[in-house]
Amino acid sequence: MDRAAKRRTRVAIVGAGPAGFYAAESLLRGEGDFAIDFVNRLPTPFGLVRDGVAPDHQAIKSVTRVYARILAREEVRYFGNVTLGRDLSVDDLRQRYDHIVYAVGAQSDRRLGIPGEEIEGSHAAFEFVAWYNGHPDYRGSRFDLSCEEVVVVGNGNVAIDVARILLHAPATLAGTDIADHALEALGASRVRRVTLLGRRGPAQASFTNPELREFGRIDGVRAQVDAAELEIDAASEASLAENVVRQRNMKTLAGYAAAWESGGDSERTVRFRFLVSPIEVISDGGRVTGVRIERNRLVALEDGYMRAEGTGETEVVPCGLLIRSVGYRGVPIPGVPYCERRGIFPNAGGRLTASATDDATVPGEYVVGWAKRGPSGVIGTNKADAAATVRLLLEDLATGVNCRRDDAEGDLADLLGSRGVRWIDKNGWGRIDAHETGRGKPEGRPRVKLCTAGEMVAIAGEAVRTR
Ligand code: NAP
Repeated sequence: MDRAAKRRTRVAIVGAGPAGFYAAESLLRGEGDFAIDFVNRLPTPFGLVRDGVAPDHQAIKSVTRVYARILAREEVRYFGNVTLGRDLSVDDLRQRYDHIVYAVGAQSDRRLGIPGEEIEGSHAAFEFVAWYNGHPDYRGSRFDLSCEEVVVVGNGNVAIDVARILLHAPATLAGTDIADHALEALGASRVRRVTLLGRRGPAQASFTNPELREFGRIDGVRAQVDAAELEIDAASEASLAENVVRQRNMKTLAGYAAAWESGGDSERTVRFRFLVSPIEVISDGGRVTGVRIERNRLVALEDGYMRAEGTGETEVVPCGLLIRSVGYRGVPIPGVPYCERRGIFPNAGGRLTASATDDATVPGEYVVGWAKRGPSGVIGTNKADAAATVRLLLEDLATGVNCRRDDAEGDLADLLGSRGVRWIDKNGWGRIDAHETGRGKPEGRPRVKLCTAGEMVAIAGEAVRTR
């Protein structure tokens, strides 16, 4: 390796999403001299900011300016379109880097574990979100939008995103960076009602309040809440005292309930149901036709957590499309310890550990973001989270404890080149970015996304390295 990196501490960051960029930012901010290589599965960087944040929330995406500045730094290289576990092994990284930071997020979905979950027309929110955002792996997904009724299971912000995207007038989305295939499909959508199912009560919903309030401002959409479902038990009432977000949510929902009762026309409806769990997905033998739900009651556990418990009372909510939005989940990487139960990489504050039950740390390896703590928090949450992990890395570097032997050698570019791996570097991403934003300009859109890895590689052109 002939670049100055020889004298620098070499760090591989696996995953170029928010957590990875905040880890790089923390490393570059300190006094150490680091050479940072991002290894990213998709050709494009920025993770969930590109593939997760809803297209009608463009302001949130402006954070990529910060990431772009980090990427532009001389100490940072980008290896996009490179999959750890396929194109190279963890041992390949261990040989070449002093430290590895896993910032791989949560690349799949939690399951409900109920009969019929796999029936056609039942999808994970993960898939729907990736599809409308133009994630190359989900370019070919199909959602039946010819039905009028959709059920979304879950009471988190992803469930809200899904409902909003399904209910927006197509004109609202036309000026965004939504994938063209999704814009076309949603343009022909006949969906008129989206019902969100919360297994617990309104006081336990994990929506943040600005997201919940947005339904009050969407043209042609009314929010329906049954006032009776907003009557909460004493323990839930008491729990609100310490939680301003949930107090606000209760107020917003009460406003929706009152407005609904006073009547008025709406083309489309978002309905909030609480204290109900899906127990079976129903089909006509082929496709989803409804979901059987069971009414719940809340039981307070010793630690104060309010758990939902079935009452045996059931009903069927008809729908032609079911979206399960009950949380994301990590995916293991061959050769890296993984906690199956939690769907994360086991760690002690960010130091990778041998397993969920063995606290022995894996020298020189760290975890940040959703891969570290599970799928919670907003983009900014990852900043402090990554900084905390990097503090441990710097501490280890200073003390020499939890470090591998100082024998890292060999350059990743040489290895990938010798294997014929086509990776996309910073210039390649620059071309993709310029191409997408250039296509968006005449249409008044922030960008028109390329949605297949093949197109991306073609546009990246000579910047794609195959040495
Ligand atoms: P989440 O906030 O954890 O919500 C998951 C929901 O699924 C909860 O309501 C949970 O209910 C429910 N659930 C879990 N298992 C269930 C089951 N078996 N049956 C029925 N319901 C079940 O997760 P998320 O919505 O996927 O969001 C992930 C993170 O990204 C969150 O921190 C979120 O705030 C963030 N995010 C933010 C934005 C934004 O800022 N605009 C947008 C999208 C996502 P319980 O509470 O009962 O467990």
